[in-house]
Amino acid sequence: MDSADADTPRIRWLFAGQLGSLFDDGGPILLVEAKSLIAGRPIHRAKAHLLLSAIRHRARELGDRVEYLRVDTYDEALEARAGDARSLEVIDPTSWAARRYVRRVGASILPSRGFVTTEDEFRAWADARKPGSRLLLEDFYRATRERTGLLMEGEHPAGGHWNYDPDNRASPPKNAVTLGLPEPWWPTEDDIDEEVRHDLDRWQADGSVTLVGGDGPRRFAVTEAEANAALDDFVESRLGDFGPFEDATLTGDWTMAHSLLSAPLNLGLLDPRVVVERVAAEYTSGGAPLPSVEGFVRQIAGWRDWVWHLYWYLGEDYAVSHNALAATTPLPQAFWELDPAAIEENCLHHAIDGVSEHGWAHHIQRLMVLGNWALQRGYDPKELNDWFIDMFVDGTPWVMPANVVGMSQHADGGIVATKPYASGGAYIDRMTDFCHGCRFSPKKRLGEDACPFTAGYWAFLDRNEERLSRNHRMAQPLAGLRGLSDREAVVAQEKERASW
Ligand code: FAD
Repeated sequence: MDSADADTPRIRWLFAGQLGSLFDDGGPILLVEAKSLIAGRPIHRAKAHLLLSAIRHRARELGDRVEYLRVDTYDEALEARAGDARSLEVIDPTSWAARRYVRRVGASILPSRGFVTTEDEFRAWADARKPGSRLLLEDFYRATRERTGLLMEGEHPAGGHWNYDPDNRASPPKNAVTLGLPEPWWPTEDDIDEEVRHDLDRWQADGSVTLVGGDGPRRFAVTEAEANAALDDFVESRLGDFGPFEDATLTGDWTMAHSLLSAPLNLGLLDPRVVVERVAAEYTSGGAPLPSVEGFVRQIAGWRDWVWHLYWYLGEDYAVSHNALAATTPLPQAFWELDPAAIEENCLHHAIDGVSEHGWAHHIQRLMVLGNWALQRGYDPKELNDWFIDMFVDGTPWVMPANVVGMSQHADGGIVATKPYASGGAYIDRMTDFCHGCRFSPKKRLGEDACPFTAGYWAFLDRNEERLSRNHRMAQPLAGLRGLSDREAVVAQEKERASW
């Protein structure tokens, strides 16, 4: 792929996911702020803000070393520098489209960075599997720990177990409004943020961008210094509670004990290897309990790397070619406009409201509220994939397919997850405090106050009974469905129930 010879002077073009020092080897840099990054489809305003703010902050940090272009498209940027004798060098970018583009324009390509494991390491691991054997996150994660020595004591996992999930499933504390933790670290906005806001206002007014959701104050790091401050704060004040309350939600505590690091990680501001080593050291020094430390390391060295590698491994068509549950319902306006006003289901109302305000929700809200709702109602998985990319500050093309099309919507028929993440209101009642303030009862599947998640769960199983019947992990839920005395009435009710 390398099209320039070794003596040609080079300039390194860094993309929006490559803004930290990990991607900078000290030479001249090209940064392109293309409006096309945020134009052409509805996008969350906080996400647009974060992207522009991060690129502009990086340009300021790099000073004389950067050639910084503000243009409408990448093509325009390349035309503008057509007379430049230096050849373009890139670190392989993070989407299929961007990789095609840099190859088409003849850039020299260096291997990707920004994950705990390299693409070569993943391929070697996957190729060494027995033919036909399933690729499992747990196997990959353990192999990574063994190879890197992360949270290992000799040949054994620290503490004697690979997995502390059973310790990490606590319900939220009873009658608590918040977890009672200190406020997370928040950034202080500066003149660059002010300029970004002004530009977004202008573009929104002239119709060149379509922005939804709120934008302020900025809540996520846009520089390496800010990202490190956020990491320090998380390790010092929230890591210990991360594990037990990983899956819990409280209406009055939008961050819980989560790290809020996905956006700076995906912007390339933090090296995930440094992050996991830093967190693992807290266990060694006695600063945090092992279940929390392991739970967090698993998220980054396990899940984050896993979905990155699956993005390439499953191929470009994966996100568009799978629809195993024949789900074709278009996303409702309340999703596209991030307008919770008409949504009566308390948990969903708060999830959409939170996304509207912050462009962020924590994992369980994404998976068990937003994703679960969409799965039950058969939302088009490709449309949902795009929605998550554009409405979340940390949304990227690579992170979404395995999470949304695979894990959350089971649209791949079981490649990523062995069974659909569908659940009724009882799960939400156990793990959140939303049901107390809701007009629906999680225990009821029939009647005016029947919980749409509970009834929707049965309607989902009914609609997909045949498709799921060969999945042995669904045998029990399907037996439950067949035993329902009011099955027909519940299904009829859910067909009738008006959706906002
Ligand atoms: P924490 O809970 O503190 O976790 C620590 C870190 O682990 C995260 O910052 C993230 O980098 C990583 N991580 C954990 N789980 C995953 C995962 N499943 N995939 C990738 N990374 C993971 N993550 C994104 O980075 N961008 C997204 O757009 C995104 N969309 C998601 C959509 C759905 C439907 C689901 C089920 C998950 C999605 N995730 C996404 C994964 C996860 O929900 C977020 O990374 C997490 O909620 C971000 O908040 P945090 O930084 O406080 O994470």
